[in-house]
Amino acid sequence: MTFRSRLMAEKINIDVIIIGAGLTGLTAAWYLVKQGLDVVVLEKDNRTGGVIQTFSEDGFVYEAGPNTGVLSHPEAAELFEDLAGRCRLEIANPDAKRRLIWKSGRWHALPGGLISAVKTPLFTAGDKIRILGEPFRRKGNDPFETVSGLVKRRLGRSYLDYAVDPFISGIYAGDPDRLVTRYALPKLYALEQNYGSFIRGAVRKKIDPGDERMKKATREVFSAEGGLASLTDDLAEGVGAGRIFLNSKDLTTVISRKGRFAVKGSINGNPLELTAPYVISTVDSAVLPSLFPFLDRDDLSSVTNLEYAGVTQVILGFKNWKGPELNAFGGLVPSVEKRDILGVLFTSSFLKNRAPEGGALLSVFMGGYRHPGLLELNDDKTKSLVYKEIQEMFGIKDPDPDILRIFRYKRAIPQYTASSKERLEAIERLEGRYRGLVLGGNIRDGIGMADRIRQARTIAGEVVENIRGRQKE
Ligand SMILES: Cc1cc2nc3c(=O)[nH]c(=O)nc-3n(C[C@H](O)[C@H](O)[C@H](O)COP(=O)(O)OP(=O)(O)OC[C@H]3O[C@@H](n4cnc5c(N)ncnc54)[C@H](O)[C@@H]3O)c2cc1C
Repeated sequence: MTFRSRLMAEKINIDVIIIGAGLTGLTAAWYLVKQGLDVVVLEKDNRTGGVIQTFSEDGFVYEAGPNTGVLSHPEAAELFEDLAGRCRLEIANPDAKRRLIWKSGRWHALPGGLISAVKTPLFTAGDKIRILGEPFRRKGNDPFETVSGLVKRRLGRSYLDYAVDPFISGIYAGDPDRLVTRYALPKLYALEQNYGSFIRGAVRKKIDPGDERMKKATREVFSAEGGLASLTDDLAEGVGAGRIFLNSKDLTTVISRKGRFAVKGSINGNPLELTAPYVISTVDSAVLPSLFPFLDRDDLSSVTNLEYAGVTQVILGFKNWKGPELNAFGGLVPSVEKRDILGVLFTSSFLKNRAPEGGALLSVFMGGYRHPGLLELNDDKTKSLVYKEIQEMFGIKDPDPDILRIFRYKRAIPQYTASSKERLEAIERLEGRYRGLVLGGNIRDGIGMADRIRQARTIAGEVVENIRGRQKE
């Protein structure tokens, strides 16, 4: 009898139930299983990976969701080390690391050194001089200062418009006037708070990068060889198919006697009921009221009012690329330029085997917090907007790609705005009231893949420690 059929037939006790088989849920499950715990992952869809989904088609390998992450926490590099022999980390080609910014009808490289910083037309002469004073400017004392406020105060308006705003579009698909630095960019916030200045902080960190483990946290851009789904597929395989219940629908939780959690629902029309002392949620905030109906409504509303930015990703694959050389990571479009796209990744320039020889794979992003209406466009309208932008930005008369795929995410990226303080406090109160309840996922602790991996591993570590502690009690 398999673990799964025993579980269903005999209602055996398990240690942990995880809701959601995206990167967070699978990473947490993988580390818990490695520690010998009995874990079940409940997933509503018929596949694992969540927003991570890789397709191979006609010589192209493309992503429907995220394309790359940054190894910003040691846990991300360590996950690939721990998975050794399975999926392989791929670091983006360093020869294609230039970031281009669209200004006044053409692309300009974001400066990477002093001379290019002096010469670039992206920033005003006044701001270039002003930046020399950055190390001596007083540090801010408003914990709710927006990203715009912080950047204007320390660097100047043109740095906000032509460096930080497009960067925020690329990461958050968000609005720097609304995102609060402390929650949205905690490392940047800490740089100012701890060192008094971005420049002084960056120099100090270069001189003292921390211990060997902290050195694994870098700014390198990563994917996995063959696409990001090979990471989530390998995690799923490590967890074991028998422990991942796909097509788990209408999940809801009740608290059973002795404070255990009973998660109920159905799979393919058959009733499902599992009981465990730990339940870890990794889902969108909107799912929480039905998943945990016993939670305090007021606290929960501080979590469910989290706003999300929608994103449309358009994949363009050219077998025979006739445009300009794409030896860069991609191009970002500042909102002041008032264009219809947020940016373009030149995916085949920095990742291996993404397009046939002589071809190119581009990922175009549209929508975001500021242009939700663009997500409502039908395929034809989306396509013609993208073609128009590609024609103008790359000088291609008739784009005519060999493949064109459109993926829409209405709730792609949570926006860590001023409401974050209340949300995080509410999560802490809710978890505090129910021992064994973990409200994880990207409702807290960061939106990037490295953030997700770090959170999952932290949660897994805490659960293991608590279970071992309970066993000793
Ligand atoms: C278009 C897009 C582009 C992105 N680009 C980048 C990038 O370039 N770099 C980067 O680092 N990050 C990027 N991200 C963010 C990154 O992909 C995510 O933070 C990460 O993959 C989220 O993983 P997760 O497991 O927390 O959530 P998800 O992947 O959303 O997984 C949650 C899972 O829970 C399941 N679920 C939901 N409700 C229920 C329910 N009621 N019952 C059971 N299961 C349920 C879902 O089906 C899903 O499988 C991007 C995200 C999107 C959408």
